[in-house]
Amino acid sequence: MSADAISAYGGELVDLTAPLAERAALKRHAASLTQIPLSARDLADLEMLATGAFSPLTGFMGEADYTSSRDRMRLANGIPWSIPITLGIEDSIARSLKAGAEVTLTSETGPLAILKVSEVYKVDRKQEAANVFGTGDEAHPGAKNVISTPRSCVGGTVMLIDEIPGRTFLEVPREPRQTRAAFRERGWKKIVAFQTRNPTHRAHEYIQKAALEICDGLMLHPLVGETKGDDVPAAVRMETYRVLLDLYYPKDRAMLAVMPAHMRYGGPREAILHAIIRRNYGCTHFIVGRDHAGVGNYYGTYDAQKIFERFEPGELGIVPLTFENTFFCRKCAAMASFKTCPHADDDRLILSGTKVREMLRHGEAPPPEFTRPEIAAILVRSMRESS
Ligand SMILES: [Zn+2]
Repeated sequence: MSADAISAYGGELVDLTAPLAERAALKRHAASLTQIPLSARDLADLEMLATGAFSPLTGFMGEADYTSSRDRMRLANGIPWSIPITLGIEDSIARSLKAGAEVTLTSETGPLAILKVSEVYKVDRKQEAANVFGTGDEAHPGAKNVISTPRSCVGGTVMLIDEIPGRTFLEVPREPRQTRAAFRERGWKKIVAFQTRNPTHRAHEYIQKAALEICDGLMLHPLVGETKGDDVPAAVRMETYRVLLDLYYPKDRAMLAVMPAHMRYGGPREAILHAIIRRNYGCTHFIVGRDHAGVGNYYGTYDAQKIFERFEPGELGIVPLTFENTFFCRKCAAMASFKTCPHADDDRLILSGTKVREMLRHGEAPPPEFTRPEIAAILVRSMRESS
């Protein structure tokens, strides 16, 4: 019996890894099959599938799940799923594959997984981008990635037969089974996850701690897969998270773990996927801030919060905690939000992301009410080293 506070999405936490004892034989078998090379983003999806982070998916989607998730944000069986997970392949390979065949998914280090082909089908990537991101504009990084993915797809269950190469930050939990074990060990029952691809400024710290007031534990859960070029590199972000947790969070109430997914910049639809993933990691609550997973001006400020209303509360099985934009207010002499502070913008310390980046580039630390000095120092140093 599991003592976990929350079940996996769809019931069972999926495990697509082959037993160690069988791997040598499977690798010999894999060498004889058609080889399909994976991109960095495919690799990230494979890891999410294999470890159960994408439960209940047991492989790359077939056409029914693809179309259903694209058009109505649900799998073919009806349960919510907001973004298609496909494996795009070259047409020449697609033509040679038949249902029932096995193929080998490879990285530059060799065979990684065996996929049992359930179907081969063609998709309209422009339509997919338009539905998922609300735009087919290639200036949108997620839409650009989708549109550049091959139109032919192979669907089928996968089995991982070797370790995924290039896995980083292994000193902290990376897989759902690891975070679930960590929560059990700590006795946490109400666990809130915070998704991030940015350094944590005071505004985010405030939101996390507001959530922590009503939960047993906080999982700070940065995405460490591919992000767009101008986001702060994962290694620098990880340093800021470690220092922040060490200096400003109670050790027995907050922990750091990483998520290997790549960033899709899918705004509202990605917020739903991010929530489902965190349920699989064992969390009961999920923070959704303003413009979650957004980019540019593609989404309305609260779209990623409002989209949760399109599902019945029990359907996702994880509670979204929605937050306003927060800031330090000089009159309140505290962190606050539009919900709690009655004062004027002049009293509030509000800096745009662009302004903060400009300050950091000039070696200037933002005010301590905006960024903890220890975090600012790391960011200033990394800016200097990268320029
Ligand atoms: Zn105020």
